[in-house]
Amino acid sequence: MTGTLTIAGLGPGDEALITPEVASALADATDVLGYAPYVARIKARQGLALHASDNREELRRAEEAMRLAAEGRRVVVVSSGDPGVFAMASAVFEALEAAPQWHGLVIRVLPGVTAMLAAAARAGAPLGHDFCAINLSDNLKPWSLIEKRLRLAAEADFAIALYNPRSASRLEGFARALQVLNQAGCGDRITIFAHAVTTADERIDALPLRDARPDMADMRTLVIVGNSATRRTGRWIYTPRHAS
Ligand code: SAH
Repeated sequence: MTGTLTIAGLGPGDEALITPEVASALADATDVLGYAPYVARIKARQGLALHASDNREELRRAEEAMRLAAEGRRVVVVSSGDPGVFAMASAVFEALEAAPQWHGLVIRVLPGVTAMLAAAARAGAPLGHDFCAINLSDNLKPWSLIEKRLRLAAEADFAIALYNPRSASRLEGFARALQVLNQAGCGDRITIFAHAVTTADERIDALPLRDARPDMADMRTLVIVGNSATRRTGRWIYTPRHAS
């Protein structure tokens, strides 16, 4: 039997945003691995083993997934949103790089609706012109690099999607990020706080960056800072497609 390793995105929360391709991979899986809250979204059934792990265990999880696939199992590694955006796909390839014996494995990456797209759709079209995405977690990179990227993104007048703005173990980071953007002249920019988008706890707030408070974000919030032209029209927020 030939095993397979599929790395799939579950979307931002609503089941309707799981792609048919991902649903079909899950229906066919013998094993699902992932961070516990994501694995909890998978319905248990006979013949399916669920392997939940902690969010700091990504490399070990990736190795375990490759080992199971090499044994002939149909393994799906799940991420929320898209698996290639600050998520498991890179972790699997990092583990693969260090394990030449597994280079023959059949691997597929199945995209999902990433949080910034679901959040943007709720607000209108804040990512309608050039934009970038920055992960504010400093688990895997120094804070000085995050600050540099924030400053340069502000200077380039990108709309900026901020993932992982804040956690209990990193209370200062987001406050500092707001300060850096304010100092870079972004005080007037419309800033969207999209909490738990497409779930029952969804909440969307928008205000000028200078009025944003650090406690408006938590780990289930995606923050979008508009560019200098991002504006409101009625109850919607959008970024024009042109710039001068
Ligand atoms: N792979 C995921 C991102 C993982 S990083 C994706 O593509 O969406 C985790 C961060 O994603 C969270 O801290 C938050 O910033 C964002 N996020 C994930 N789901 C979200 C949701 N439903 N609503 C708002 N933000 C979300």
